[in-house]
Amino acid sequence: MIIESVGAQEIFDSRGEPTIEVKLNVAGLHLFFAKIPSGKSRGKNEAAALSFVEVQKTLEGGFVKEIEGFEGETIKELDLFLLAADGTNHKERLGGNLILGISIAFARALAHERGEELWEVLHKEFFPDRDISKKPLIFANLINGGVHADNNLDIQEYMAVVETKGAYAESIQKLISFYERLGFVIGEERDVTRLPIGDEGGYSVNFKNNFAPIEMMEKLILESELQNEFRIALDAAASSFYEDKNYRFEGASLSTEELIERYEDYFEKSKLLISVEDPCDEDDFEGFKNLVKIAGKKWIVGDDLTTTDPERIKEYADKKLITGVIIKANQIGTLTETCEAIRTAQEKGIRCIVSHRSGETDDSFLVHIAKACGADGVKIGAPVKERISKYDELMRLYP
Ligand code: PEP
Ligand code: MG
Repeated sequence: MIIESVGAQEIFDSRGEPTIEVKLNVAGLHLFFAKIPSGKSRGKNEAAALSFVEVQKTLEGGFVKEIEGFEGETIKELDLFLLAADGTNHKERLGGNLILGISIAFARALAHERGEELWEVLHKEFFPDRDISKKPLIFANLINGGVHADNNLDIQEYMAVVETKGAYAESIQKLISFYERLGFVIGEERDVTRLPIGDEGGYSVNFKNNFAPIEMMEKLILESELQNEFRIALDAAASSFYEDKNYRFEGASLSTEELIERYEDYFEKSKLLISVEDPCDEDDFEGFKNLVKIAGKKWIVGDDLTTTDPERIKEYADKKLITGVIIKANQIGTLTETCEAIRTAQEKGIRCIVSHRSGETDDSFLVHIAKACGADGVKIGAPVKERISKYDELMRLYP
């Protein structure tokens, strides 16, 4: 397959966050697209995300000429070419977002040429030995806080975790009803008829403390008799409230030990809470390690900590800092490295959750990555707006 040209355009999500769409022209075929999301609470080791203007300058400043005529039959060949052309540590020259867009659009061209789905191409190239029948848990962020919302919650995400035993359509319908019921209860408690929502479609209102949303969700799950299918997960995104080696939490300043005591208390009070992502700052390795020691079967998940980097995942899994990992392709910037990160995590026996970003598009490539590798979870936000495309794709890919 021969690349003829590459282009890009800027697209905005429903919250006005800029994302880019990459167009790849392949000789003898046609145009292939990939829309790359953007993140607000970014890990400091993530691949560079170029603005649209920077992407245009890179393309017109010579890169279109460099890639023109590239010929290859695997994703890896293209990614190695892109990595060499970039030549920097964090993809500062070409941008992780532009590189990933080219990588995904190329994978789509391969899929088209072979009459396959994107997930099949990924599965055959990177995960031929993985079970694709496994249905990932859905992590749906229903109450937003932190930098994703304009409210008093320090914790960024309160997620319903939905286990699908039958068809996705059924469990997604239950999730939608639960989201509506949660909105009704929140509105009734505050005597308002309209609720603001945050970046990922979850409700964005004040609560009496950071535990109150867990309590409310747990009560509703138990009342609705969903306890065999629904659980609760948090993304603390704790780097966003780490200041001068302490955590700003409910107006107080907590040491790492005090923050861990809070999580321990949450685990004791909530039997449905099964997972906490980024519980500590991305450099607070002791914090992660000490939490893993007391967490038992609860998942302690790295996101800003690990940035979908195979080396970091290997190191932190070996040091027992994490028992799960978030996979965001644009944190690392190529499909090859993303799949290597997943393989590393799976070989180390830790859980993989393939995730969206706060600035999302209607592209649903993350569901294809999840299916290709047999992921444990997909993290896709509340069932609204751009996120709906991911729910649609789940129903289509797991009939
Ligand atoms: C996250 O932190 O897991 C997340 C999805 O947010 P963002 O895209 O802003 O990093
Ligand atoms: Mg996170």
